[in-house]
Amino acid sequence: MKNKLKRAAAAVSAIAMSAMQLAAFPVSQSVTAATQFPFVIEGEDMKGATPWKDIYGQKIDGYSGSGFWYLTNDSASLEVDAPAEGMYQITVHGAQILNKEGRKQAMKVNGVKYDAQAPYSDKWIDYDFGLVRLKEGKNTIEFFNDYGYLAVDYVTVSEAEFPDLSKATDKLCDPDATSEAKSLMKYLKSVYGSNIISGQQQIYGGGNTIQTSIRYDEANDKCVDQDGKEYTIDKDSYDKDEQGHKFPWHCSGEDGQVYTYSTQNRNYTYNNYDNDINIIKDMTGKYPAIQGFDFGSNCPCYAWDDGVVDRMIEWTKEKGGICTASWHVNVPTRMADYTLGEPLDFSKTTYKGNEGGNSVSDFKTANCLVEGTVEYEYFQLCMENLAKQLLELQEAGVPVIFRPFHEAEGNKSNTDDPIDGSGAWFWWSKEGAVVYKQMWDLLQDTLINKYGIHNLIWEQNLYAWTDASAQWYSGDDKVDIVAFDKYNTQYNRHDGKTSGTPNFDAESGIFYKLNEFVKGNKMVAMAENDSVPSMENLLVEHAYWLYFCPWYDSEQDHYLLGEKYQDPEELSKLYNSDFCITLDELPKDLFSNNSEPSSEPDPTQPSTDEDYVWGDANVDGSVDMSDVVMVMQACLNPKKYGTSGSSEDHITAKGEINGDVDGNVGLTANDALIIQKFTLHLLDEA
Ligand code: CA
Repeated sequence: MKNKLKRAAAAVSAIAMSAMQLAAFPVSQSVTAATQFPFVIEGEDMKGATPWKDIYGQKIDGYSGSGFWYLTNDSASLEVDAPAEGMYQITVHGAQILNKEGRKQAMKVNGVKYDAQAPYSDKWIDYDFGLVRLKEGKNTIEFFNDYGYLAVDYVTVSEAEFPDLSKATDKLCDPDATSEAKSLMKYLKSVYGSNIISGQQQIYGGGNTIQTSIRYDEANDKCVDQDGKEYTIDKDSYDKDEQGHKFPWHCSGEDGQVYTYSTQNRNYTYNNYDNDINIIKDMTGKYPAIQGFDFGSNCPCYAWDDGVVDRMIEWTKEKGGICTASWHVNVPTRMADYTLGEPLDFSKTTYKGNEGGNSVSDFKTANCLVEGTVEYEYFQLCMENLAKQLLELQEAGVPVIFRPFHEAEGNKSNTDDPIDGSGAWFWWSKEGAVVYKQMWDLLQDTLINKYGIHNLIWEQNLYAWTDASAQWYSGDDKVDIVAFDKYNTQYNRHDGKTSGTPNFDAESGIFYKLNEFVKGNKMVAMAENDSVPSMENLLVEHAYWLYFCPWYDSEQDHYLLGEKYQDPEELSKLYNSDFCITLDELPKDLFSNNSEPSSEPDPTQPSTDEDYVWGDANVDGSVDMSDVVMVMQACLNPKKYGTSGSSEDHITAKGEINGDVDGNVGLTANDALIIQKFTLHLLDEA
């Protein structure tokens, strides 16, 4: 017995062994190939590293392993084998005892450089080197001497844990915000973290001028084009040219398009403000959901109304789109020569701040806050002009994602002082973060409390998002959305390619940094860009920007049509994905959804409720014709297909709730009809 058992056991273990070997062979092969995460390597064990026990006599006790590695001249690297492409966290357990104010550090991931910040510490602490994207298979992470003097005890590479985006608030900082602004904000929040909203900036002021064959026939007092078509003359706009010939400055077509006289060619022209959205439509078959505008044309110097308010009202009220707006408000370049209220040619005004560390104008920004100064009076006029436009929008029920004083700090400060503004290229921030934030407060207080403007979602758009950028942020109580402008086809590339090609980088590092910086309390948007990130990059890197919005196409910068900025195929792929929201996909109640969360389900929005998929009567996760059949069967033959029907395929209790979409209790043929219309895309476009 004993013997037999022994033999049996031996036999079993032999069988088990061979079975294990057979089964385990491919498994053990992949185990030895792929790195187990979190992966930890001692600094002193990295390739190229040398072991250190002290830093020139200074001991840092408590290291792990046999010592640490001190980054001086030579680089050291580690390798990991990632099972799949994705985001990974790099953490260095180290110490930095050279610079009290902290010291920048550099790392290369597969040859692409990333920066990190290492605060002073004479004890071992964790330095966050950020989330990086690793490819499937072998990856090399190298620490090199761009800055150096970091003691590395050990390095940890772990799978990314993505931040919780659901805590970003939809509560607006203006407690008296209009119902339209609240409703829009609620929608933005509802898609944040799962979708990206498409956006596109349009040109403002002049530009995209289209020539026509319309001419003024003085003898017959008519405006006529080459086909003999007549245009309505604006009789208030008659003027005389240098030869004494009469002409009207404006005429209009049947469609309301206004044409302006060109003294150069003696014909009429118009500005094609729809140029960019039409390019997008041609490229992708879709229109963007957001359109970007600018209030810069209405400035006290030249008070030149380019019709932006009408275009915004049309975009929201007639097209159902979302408006965002920046404010390129100009100041006189030579304030000393300027008399308040006098007209000034555009060329003698500027929105520029500092160039090469020096101010382009003698306009003192801080004086905007000092009553009695000319700058104060001037800026009061700027705000009054702006308020008039915003009030028109408010009265028309148009909310605006408002992005004043954008790209605050511009380039990194030229000095060690992160808030001095020497790198700021706009006048509102050229005197540093303290004045910049006072300007933000002044504008917000004046618009809200003096002019009663409540249709704004306040978006603060800083630029570089270095750690110093945090000091330019106005705070959670004064900002609704934070944003970053991505211009990285020439500089700041992380995609390993050279300038002159589109940069599809999702800039997830900046996205996470921003999110962390506002403690997840605010939504994070990409308010301007040259290249649009690729869908693949956005999804792989979980870079869930609220929206993107390329700057307009112009003769200088062909952001949409230029080969170095855009790949039509990539843009089209994104626009046509479920991930990207386009104009046709915005909900009908975008500006009127002010109900509390417990509201009646909207049958046209079958997938917005987490627990119930409206229309999904057979509870298979999607809404299609099989649900129509399910509802009809349950109505017509409840004994067989009702909730307690005899058929194995009878409707479930949850399916009955899912299927009841018409607002009247109980399943009827009307529910089936609504679901059918929905599946045929008749309802979401109705
Ligand atoms: Ca160590």
